[in-house]
Amino acid sequence: MKQQNITILGSTGSIGVSTLDVIRRHPERYRAFALCAHSQVDKLFEQCREFHPVFAVLRDAELAGQLADLCRNAGLSTEVRHGVGALVEMSSLPEVDAVMAAIVGAAGLEPTLAAAQAGKRVMLANKEVLVMAGELFMHAVRQHGATLLPVDSEHNAIFQSLPADFARGLAQCGVQKILLTASGGPFRNTPLSELAGVTPAQACAHPNWVMGQKISVDSATMMNKGLEVIEARWLFDAAPEMIQVVVHPQSVIHSAVQYADGSVLAQLGNPDMRTPIAYAMAWPERIAAGVPPLDLFKIAHLDFFAPDFERFRCLQLAYDVLHIGGTAPAILNAANEVAVAAFLAGDLAFTAIAGLNEATLQAVPLTSEGSLDDVLAADAEARRVAKRMLAEQVFA
Ligand code: NAD
Ligand code: MG
Repeated sequence: MKQQNITILGSTGSIGVSTLDVIRRHPERYRAFALCAHSQVDKLFEQCREFHPVFAVLRDAELAGQLADLCRNAGLSTEVRHGVGALVEMSSLPEVDAVMAAIVGAAGLEPTLAAAQAGKRVMLANKEVLVMAGELFMHAVRQHGATLLPVDSEHNAIFQSLPADFARGLAQCGVQKILLTASGGPFRNTPLSELAGVTPAQACAHPNWVMGQKISVDSATMMNKGLEVIEARWLFDAAPEMIQVVVHPQSVIHSAVQYADGSVLAQLGNPDMRTPIAYAMAWPERIAAGVPPLDLFKIAHLDFFAPDFERFRCLQLAYDVLHIGGTAPAILNAANEVAVAAFLAGDLAFTAIAGLNEATLQAVPLTSEGSLDDVLAADAEARRVAKRMLAEQVFA
């Protein structure tokens, strides 16, 4: 088998590091071709030393210069680039076979879209891409013959539980419902009166998964599950009514599909992202991921609950924006990025995240999601409005 060249967008993050771990286990199959990150020079340099990528990319010129010096002094031939243009290039170069889209947030949209437009195998962790520009992105995948493989554990589980030809239509395949599981995060049972005072450290201490800060806070508000409802809508062309969120605190069933004949097919596993990452890398084959087997005797029992839309207002907002359509999901996504950053900085109460998101949605005019420019304009306007409201504290 020909060795596959992989570009990792977000190599220093939680998904990026897990992807490199899978590559490390299969050097004959995969090569880290380009490693791209935001600003962690030292961490990216360590990755360059181990994986000898052809390219390394950082966001700004000065940090890229520091990395280039380090690489040169260490005798590495890695070429260092910077900026969004370089990310787009690393997603579309002809030598690249597959792109792991693992940047967090809206910053990943352009390079991930470029990977789709270049017809690559796109391994998608960066769910915000589908939230912002689902229609546009899926159109690019189809038009350019890209292979889209979901990495988000729930969507990976759904993909595994669907027939291979699900693109002909879920109803045609006898699918009644997508059962999207959610752990409920660290505050599932916290008294509502205590939620306003929770700290970023508490919000980031997820009971089952170790993840980046933004997705950890999103899991605590269940905005993450809301973003995943939107992600599932586009990945599987599923009507919002078909997507049922199921709170399952153990995170053993990663999601399931309910069929017309009464069958429910699910994918189970330990909560370790290397499983869906390895699946996306090797599909349609399977490879070792370094994940221990599931011990059903140790787990012994599994719990399921209906979601609490009052406690988790962000989850309701996600269903709302799906019904509104157009740029509403992009506006919600941008507001939420501002709100989460403010919460992490200690400038916004945990319970005010939903309020800021909702107020931004109401204040920013909606347009249709026509082009990438429309989406980027909605994103920019929503950030501007959310930051202004944050500064003036004018939201419930
Ligand atoms: P993280 O914060 O740990 O890592 C983010 C990565 O993106 C870092 O390498 C960072 O350098 C890079 N990055 C951020 N902004 C950038 C920019 N402007 N330009 C270039 N690089 C930039 O995040 P994560 O937890 O690895 O999550 C990444 C994505 O995967 C998110 O969209 C998240 O929702 C999704 N996801 C993560 C998990 C998980 O278990 N961590 C599970 C499912 C989905
Ligand atoms: Mg997930």
